[in-house]
Amino acid sequence: MKMICLDLEGVLVPEIWVNVAQYTGIDALKVTTREISDYDELMRLRLDILDQHQLKLPDIQKVIAQLTPLPGAIAFIHWLRETFQWVILSDTYYEFAHPLMRQLDWPTLLCHTLEVDPETQRITGYRLRQKDPKRHAVKAFHQLNYKVIAAGDSYNDTSMLSEADVGILFHAPDKVKQEFPQFLAIDTYDDLKQAILEASAKLG
Ligand SMILES: [Mg+2]
Repeated sequence: MKMICLDLEGVLVPEIWVNVAQYTGIDALKVTTREISDYDELMRLRLDILDQHQLKLPDIQKVIAQLTPLPGAIAFIHWLRETFQWVILSDTYYEFAHPLMRQLDWPTLLCHTLEVDPETQRITGYRLRQKDPKRHAVKAFHQLNYKVIAAGDSYNDTSMLSEADVGILFHAPDKVKQEFPQFLAIDTYDDLKQAILEASAKLG
């Protein structure tokens, strides 16, 4: 039995923070896990910038509600769910992901939660479900006797890809591809479909 684990941002939907940066005109928010691989450092920086600009949770949610899945993502998911069990492993937050999950027809999502002041709606912090959550999820699926095929686009996916039986880089920037040449790197949903089918056949 196989479980397909997919990253969310950059694989099925656009980068949330990059779009928030574009809509708000705050360039400093464009930085992602592609540039800063330490996730805690990156999140502290983002929350500081939001505070400096007095942006609250509803401001960010308004932007995210305007985003749509990447072209081809919905058709890909329809194919995937007919053929495999699958789950999204993401370093985003349930509070951000909600409008995008609606468009993806509510797939299973394992991610984190934000800490929000109920009165002001200021984002005061964040609660990671656990350290290295994507790798732990893959380990857990292994304990349940699933073989895991995983795909992601960035540094925060590489421990998941290493832990998986087959790890695939999808839509990854050249820098990530060069640093992790052990993973097959592909860029289209047709190729991803093919890679998953081939990996599945190989895993038996
Ligand atoms: Mg990503």
